[in-house]
Amino acid sequence: MYGSELIEAFREFKRIWDPQWKMNPGKVIDPYRLDENLRLIEYHPLPVETTFQFPDDKRNFSRVAYRCVGVGKCRSDSGTMCPSYMVTHEEKHSTRGRARLLFEMMNGEVITDGWQSEEVHESLDLCLACKGL
Ligand code: SF4
Repeated sequence: MYGSELIEAFREFKRIWDPQWKMNPGKVIDPYRLDENLRLIEYHPLPVETTFQFPDDKRNFSRVAYRCVGVGKCRSDSGTMCPSYMVTHEEKHSTRGRARLLFEMMNGEVITDGWQSEEVHESLDLCLACKGL
């Protein structure tokens, strides 16, 4: 989009006004690699037994855990989804928050104690299983 001369000018401007590179890092100047922040690159889920079969996800719960794309529709105060979030306004009580915790639980790096995790329990505890959309 911008020629190298302009990129250099942007870089010079940023070096003066944002010396610690805090604003919009990885954008336009020294951009991140395309695959640098893709969470599935480092996704090595542990196998789990589940009662439900998840036929739309190759019968694999770890695939279910990364279905959420994070747009945050579940954080609205209207409609059905997500009643527990509507009460607490806490990310962990939103559908997105739960999906993220299950993803981390499946990945086993951040949450290392699986279904025994207090964080996962706390997050799922207020889920009404309402299947809100
Ligand atoms: S099923 Fe659980 S996560 Fe989904 S909208 Fe209902 S309370 Fe929220």
